[in-house]
Amino acid sequence: MTIFNLGSINVDLVYRVPHLPGPGETLASTGFSKGLGGKGANMSVAVTRAGGVCTHIGAVGDDGRWALQRLVDYGVVADHIATSRDATGHAIIAVDDSGENSIILHPGANHTLSESHIRDALQTATSDDTFLFQNETNALSLGVDLARERGLRIAHAAAPFEAAAVVPLLGALDLLVLNEVEAEQLQAATGNSISDIPVGDIVVTLGARGCRWHSSGGVKEFAAVPVKPVDTTGAGDTFTGFLVAAIDQGMQMDAAIDLAGRAGALMVTRLGTADVIPTLQEVQEAF
Ligand code: ADP
Repeated sequence: MTIFNLGSINVDLVYRVPHLPGPGETLASTGFSKGLGGKGANMSVAVTRAGGVCTHIGAVGDDGRWALQRLVDYGVVADHIATSRDATGHAIIAVDDSGENSIILHPGANHTLSESHIRDALQTATSDDTFLFQNETNALSLGVDLARERGLRIAHAAAPFEAAAVVPLLGALDLLVLNEVEAEQLQAATGNSISDIPVGDIVVTLGARGCRWHSSGGVKEFAAVPVKPVDTTGAGDTFTGFLVAAIDQGMQMDAAIDLAGRAGALMVTRLGTADVIPTLQEVQEAF
Protein backbone atom coordinates (compact mmCIF):
# COMPACT_ATOMS: atom_id res chain seq x y z
CA MET A 1 0.00 0.00 0.00
CA THR A 2 1.09 3.61 0.24
CA ILE A 3 3.65 5.06 2.63
CA PHE A 4 2.78 8.67 3.37
CA ASN A 5 6.01 10.31 4.43
CA LEU A 6 5.77 13.67 6.20
CA GLY A 7 9.34 14.80 5.73
CA SER A 8 11.97 17.36 4.93
CA ILE A 9 13.35 18.12 1.49
CA ASN A 10 16.79 19.68 1.57
CA VAL A 11 19.36 20.68 -0.96
CA ASP A 12 22.83 19.69 0.21
CA LEU A 13 25.41 22.23 -0.97
CA VAL A 14 28.81 20.68 -0.33
CA TYR A 15 31.96 22.84 -0.53
CA ARG A 16 35.44 21.39 -0.40
CA VAL A 17 37.74 23.78 1.53
CA PRO A 18 41.42 23.66 2.54
CA HIS A 19 40.34 24.30 6.17
CA LEU A 20 37.07 25.21 7.88
CA PRO A 21 36.63 29.02 7.73
CA GLY A 22 37.16 30.95 10.96
CA PRO A 23 35.25 34.06 12.13
CA GLY A 24 35.53 36.90 9.58
CA GLU A 25 37.43 34.74 7.09
CA THR A 26 36.58 34.59 3.37
CA LEU A 27 37.71 31.36 1.84
CA ALA A 28 37.60 30.08 -1.75
CA SER A 29 36.30 26.56 -2.12
CA THR A 30 38.20 24.06 -4.23
CA GLY A 31 35.19 21.95 -5.17
CA PHE A 32 31.40 22.04 -5.12
CA SER A 33 28.56 19.60 -5.46
CA LYS A 34 24.82 19.86 -5.07
CA GLY A 35 22.65 16.91 -4.08
CA LEU A 36 19.20 16.04 -2.85
CA GLY A 37 19.10 15.47 0.90
CA GLY A 38 17.07 15.86 4.06
CA LYS A 39 15.99 12.86 6.11
CA GLY A 40 12.49 13.04 4.67
CA ALA A 41 13.56 13.01 1.01
CA ASN A 42 16.15 10.32 1.74
CA MET A 43 13.52 8.05 3.26
CA SER A 44 11.04 8.66 0.43
CA VAL A 45 13.70 7.67 -2.08
CA ALA A 46 14.67 4.64 0.04
CA VAL A 47 11.04 3.45 0.24
CA THR A 48 10.74 3.78 -3.53
CA ARG A 49 14.07 2.05 -4.21
CA ALA A 50 12.86 -0.79 -1.96
CA GLY A 51 9.84 -1.21 -4.23
CA GLY A 52 7.31 0.66 -2.11
CA VAL A 53 4.88 3.38 -3.12
CA CYS A 54 5.68 6.63 -1.34
CA THR A 55 3.68 9.84 -1.25
CA HIS A 56 5.87 12.59 0.13
CA ILE A 57 4.16 15.28 2.22
CA GLY A 58 6.39 18.33 2.38
CA ALA A 59 7.24 21.71 0.93
CA VAL A 60 9.90 23.44 -1.13
CA GLY A 61 10.42 27.09 -2.06
CA ASP A 62 10.36 28.54 -5.56
CA ASP A 63 14.05 27.72 -5.73
CA GLY A 64 13.33 24.04 -5.04
CA ARG A 65 11.69 22.86 -8.24
CA TRP A 66 14.90 21.07 -9.03
CA ALA A 67 14.66 18.98 -5.83
CA LEU A 68 10.99 18.31 -6.47
CA GLN A 69 11.72 17.14 -10.02
CA ARG A 70 14.44 14.85 -8.76
CA LEU A 71 11.99 13.20 -6.34
CA VAL A 72 9.55 12.74 -9.21
CA ASP A 73 12.32 11.25 -11.37
CA TYR A 74 13.03 8.77 -8.58
CA GLY A 75 9.39 7.65 -8.57
CA VAL A 76 8.23 9.39 -5.41
CA VAL A 77 4.61 10.63 -5.62
CA ALA A 78 4.99 14.41 -5.32
CA ASP A 79 1.36 15.58 -5.59
CA HIS A 80 1.42 16.80 -1.99
CA ILE A 81 4.61 18.81 -1.99
CA ALA A 82 3.59 22.44 -1.51
CA THR A 83 5.40 25.48 -2.82
CA SER A 84 6.23 27.82 0.03
CA ARG A 85 7.28 31.46 0.03
CA ASP A 86 10.26 30.47 2.13
CA ALA A 87 13.51 29.14 0.70
CA THR A 88 13.82 25.39 0.16
CA GLY A 89 15.46 23.75 3.16
CA HIS A 90 19.17 23.52 2.59
CA ALA A 91 22.42 22.54 4.19
CA ILE A 92 25.64 24.42 3.51
CA ILE A 93 28.31 21.84 4.20
CA ALA A 94 32.01 22.68 4.31
CA VAL A 95 34.37 19.68 4.23
CA ASP A 96 38.09 20.17 4.79
CA ASP A 97 40.97 18.03 3.59
CA SER A 98 40.96 15.92 6.76
CA GLY A 99 37.25 15.12 6.27
CA GLU A 100 36.15 17.38 9.15
CA ASN A 101 32.97 19.30 8.37
CA SER A 102 30.83 22.19 9.53
CA ILE A 103 27.19 22.52 8.54
CA ILE A 104 24.65 25.34 8.42
CA LEU A 105 21.15 23.90 8.18
CA HIS A 106 18.31 26.18 7.10
CA PRO A 107 14.90 24.46 7.59
CA GLY A 108 13.07 27.03 5.41
CA ALA A 109 10.03 25.58 3.63
CA ASN A 110 10.20 22.40 5.72
CA HIS A 111 8.70 24.34 8.62
CA THR A 112 5.78 25.85 6.73
CA LEU A 113 3.38 22.88 6.49
CA SER A 114 -0.27 23.62 7.23
CA GLU A 115 -3.09 21.49 8.60
CA SER A 116 -5.15 21.71 5.39
CA HIS A 117 -2.15 20.55 3.36
CA ILE A 118 -1.58 17.45 5.50
CA ARG A 119 -5.30 16.73 5.74
CA ASP A 120 -5.58 16.88 1.94
CA ALA A 121 -2.60 14.62 1.49
CA LEU A 122 -4.10 11.96 3.76
CA GLN A 123 -7.57 12.22 2.23
CA THR A 124 -7.31 8.90 0.41
CA ALA A 125 -5.26 7.09 3.08
CA THR A 126 -6.64 3.92 4.67
CA SER A 127 -5.68 1.55 7.46
CA ASP A 128 -3.63 -0.47 4.94
CA ASP A 129 -1.25 2.47 4.60
CA THR A 130 1.66 3.70 6.70
CA PHE A 131 2.41 7.18 8.01
CA LEU A 132 6.14 7.81 8.35
CA PHE A 133 7.77 10.92 9.82
CA GLN A 134 11.07 12.23 11.16
CA ASN A 135 11.88 15.42 13.07
CA GLU A 136 12.82 17.90 10.33
CA THR A 137 9.39 19.42 9.62
CA ASN A 138 6.76 21.20 11.66
CA ALA A 139 3.30 19.73 12.35
CA LEU A 140 4.45 16.33 13.64
CA SER A 141 1.72 15.83 16.25
CA LEU A 142 -0.89 17.17 13.84
CA GLY A 143 0.23 14.67 11.21
CA VAL A 144 0.14 11.83 13.76
CA ASP A 145 -3.38 12.82 14.90
CA LEU A 146 -4.68 12.91 11.31
CA ALA A 147 -3.01 9.60 10.48
CA ARG A 148 -4.46 7.98 13.59
CA GLU A 149 -7.94 9.21 12.69
CA ARG A 150 -7.63 7.26 9.46
CA GLY A 151 -6.12 4.21 11.17
CA LEU A 152 -2.71 4.21 9.44
CA ARG A 153 0.27 2.27 10.82
CA ILE A 154 2.56 4.93 12.34
CA ALA A 155 6.34 4.77 12.01
CA HIS A 156 8.84 7.32 13.28
CA ALA A 157 12.56 7.79 12.88
CA ALA A 158 13.45 9.96 15.89
CA ALA A 159 16.10 12.05 14.19
CA PRO A 160 17.35 14.68 14.70
CA PHE A 161 16.55 13.70 18.29
CA GLU A 162 14.55 16.12 20.36
CA ALA A 163 12.90 14.76 23.51
CA ALA A 164 10.13 17.37 23.44
CA ALA A 165 9.13 16.26 19.92
CA VAL A 166 9.18 12.49 20.34
CA VAL A 167 8.16 11.79 23.95
CA PRO A 168 4.56 13.09 23.67
CA LEU A 169 4.04 10.98 20.52
CA LEU A 170 5.37 7.64 21.81
CA GLY A 171 1.91 6.32 22.69
CA ALA A 172 0.76 6.71 19.07
CA LEU A 173 3.65 4.86 17.42
CA ASP A 174 3.66 1.32 16.04
CA LEU A 175 7.31 1.42 14.98
CA LEU A 176 10.19 3.54 16.25
CA VAL A 177 13.65 3.51 14.65
CA LEU A 178 16.56 5.29 16.27
CA ASN A 179 20.32 5.00 16.41
CA GLU A 180 22.35 4.22 19.51
CA VAL A 181 22.94 7.84 20.49
CA GLU A 182 19.27 8.72 20.03
CA ALA A 183 18.28 5.64 22.07
CA GLU A 184 20.47 6.85 24.94
CA GLN A 185 18.90 10.30 24.71
CA LEU A 186 15.40 8.76 24.78
CA GLN A 187 16.26 6.67 27.82
CA ALA A 188 17.63 9.75 29.59
CA ALA A 189 14.53 11.80 28.69
CA THR A 190 11.99 9.18 29.82
CA GLY A 191 13.90 7.45 32.62
CA ASN A 192 12.92 4.14 30.99
CA SER A 193 15.06 1.53 29.32
CA ILE A 194 14.23 1.00 25.63
CA SER A 195 12.44 -2.28 26.43
CA ASP A 196 10.05 -0.36 28.70
CA ILE A 197 9.10 2.27 26.10
CA PRO A 198 5.47 1.57 25.11
CA VAL A 199 5.93 1.12 21.35
CA GLY A 200 5.20 -2.27 19.72
CA ASP A 201 8.41 -2.45 17.69
CA ILE A 202 11.55 -0.46 18.41
CA VAL A 203 14.68 -0.90 16.31
CA VAL A 204 17.93 0.57 17.62
CA THR A 205 20.54 0.74 14.87
CA LEU A 206 24.16 0.24 15.92
CA GLY A 207 26.14 1.17 12.79
CA ALA A 208 28.75 -1.47 11.94
CA ARG A 209 27.43 -3.60 14.84
CA GLY A 210 24.02 -4.10 13.22
CA CYS A 211 20.86 -3.45 15.20
CA ARG A 212 18.66 -4.56 18.07
CA TRP A 213 14.91 -5.16 17.78
CA HIS A 214 12.76 -4.70 20.91
CA SER A 215 9.21 -6.11 20.80
CA SER A 216 6.75 -7.95 23.00
CA GLY A 217 8.66 -11.09 22.02
CA GLY A 218 11.84 -9.79 23.68
CA VAL A 219 15.07 -8.37 22.30
CA LYS A 220 16.75 -9.74 19.19
CA GLU A 221 20.18 -8.79 17.85
CA PHE A 222 21.01 -8.60 14.15
CA ALA A 223 24.65 -8.56 12.99
CA ALA A 224 25.69 -6.14 10.23
CA VAL A 225 27.07 -7.30 6.92
CA PRO A 226 30.83 -6.57 6.92
CA VAL A 227 31.68 -3.85 4.37
CA LYS A 228 34.37 -1.20 3.83
CA PRO A 229 32.58 2.09 4.64
CA VAL A 230 33.26 5.07 2.38
CA ASP A 231 30.60 7.49 3.66
CA THR A 232 28.15 6.67 6.44
CA THR A 233 25.74 9.52 5.57
CA GLY A 234 22.22 8.28 4.95
CA ALA A 235 22.72 4.74 6.33
CA GLY A 236 19.97 5.18 8.90
CA ASP A 237 17.59 6.81 6.39
CA THR A 238 18.16 3.96 3.93
CA PHE A 239 17.64 1.39 6.70
CA THR A 240 14.34 2.96 7.80
CA GLY A 241 13.01 3.39 4.25
CA PHE A 242 13.73 -0.25 3.40
CA LEU A 243 12.32 -1.46 6.73
CA VAL A 244 9.04 0.43 6.35
CA ALA A 245 8.65 -0.61 2.70
CA ALA A 246 9.31 -4.28 3.53
CA ILE A 247 6.79 -4.28 6.41
CA ASP A 248 4.29 -2.57 4.11
CA GLN A 249 4.78 -5.36 1.59
CA GLY A 250 3.89 -7.93 4.23
CA MET A 251 7.38 -9.17 5.09
CA GLN A 252 7.88 -10.58 8.59
CA MET A 253 9.76 -8.26 10.93
CA ASP A 254 12.90 -10.46 11.11
CA ALA A 255 13.21 -10.59 7.34
CA ALA A 256 12.43 -6.88 6.98
CA ILE A 257 15.16 -5.94 9.47
CA ASP A 258 17.62 -8.24 7.73
CA LEU A 259 16.89 -6.60 4.37
CA ALA A 260 17.10 -3.08 5.85
CA GLY A 261 20.47 -3.90 7.40
CA ARG A 262 21.84 -5.11 4.07
CA ALA A 263 20.55 -1.92 2.38
CA GLY A 264 22.24 0.22 5.09
CA ALA A 265 25.49 -1.70 4.64
CA LEU A 266 25.50 -1.20 0.86
CA MET A 267 24.70 2.49 1.35
CA VAL A 268 27.83 3.10 3.45
CA THR A 269 29.98 1.89 0.56
CA ARG A 270 28.73 4.85 -1.53
CA LEU A 271 29.50 8.57 -1.44
CA GLY A 272 26.41 10.82 -1.29
CA THR A 273 22.86 10.78 0.05
CA ALA A 274 19.46 10.42 -1.67
CA ASP A 275 20.95 10.14 -5.16
CA VAL A 276 22.93 6.98 -4.35
CA ILE A 277 20.50 4.99 -2.19
CA PRO A 278 20.63 1.43 -3.57
CA THR A 279 17.76 -0.39 -5.22
CA LEU A 280 16.27 -3.62 -3.91
CA GLN A 281 17.90 -5.51 -6.76
CA GLU A 282 21.33 -4.03 -6.00
CA VAL A 283 20.95 -5.05 -2.33
CA GLN A 284 19.91 -8.57 -3.28
CA GLU A 285 22.82 -8.92 -5.70
CA ALA A 286 25.42 -7.41 -3.35
CA PHE A 287 25.06 -9.82 -0.40
P1 ADP B 1 22.43 6.37 11.49
O1 ADP B 1 22.89 6.73 10.12
O2 ADP B 1 21.00 6.79 11.76
O3 ADP B 1 23.38 6.76 12.60
P2 ADP B 1 23.46 3.64 11.68
O4 ADP B 1 24.83 4.21 11.50
O5 ADP B 1 23.20 2.89 12.94
O6 ADP B 1 22.34 4.75 11.50
O7 ADP B 1 23.20 2.69 10.42
C1 ADP B 1 21.95 2.11 10.14
C2 ADP B 1 22.14 0.65 9.72
O8 ADP B 1 22.95 0.59 8.53
C3 ADP B 1 22.85 -0.20 10.75
O9 ADP B 1 21.93 -0.77 11.69
C4 ADP B 1 23.50 -1.27 9.88
O10 ADP B 1 22.58 -2.30 9.59
C5 ADP B 1 23.85 -0.50 8.60
N1 ADP B 1 25.23 0.00 8.71
C6 ADP B 1 25.61 1.25 9.08
N2 ADP B 1 26.97 1.36 9.10
C7 ADP B 1 27.44 0.15 8.71
C8 ADP B 1 28.75 -0.40 8.53
N3 ADP B 1 29.87 0.32 8.75
N4 ADP B 1 28.85 -1.70 8.15
C9 ADP B 1 27.75 -2.45 7.91
N5 ADP B 1 26.50 -1.99 8.08
C10 ADP B 1 26.33 -0.72 8.47
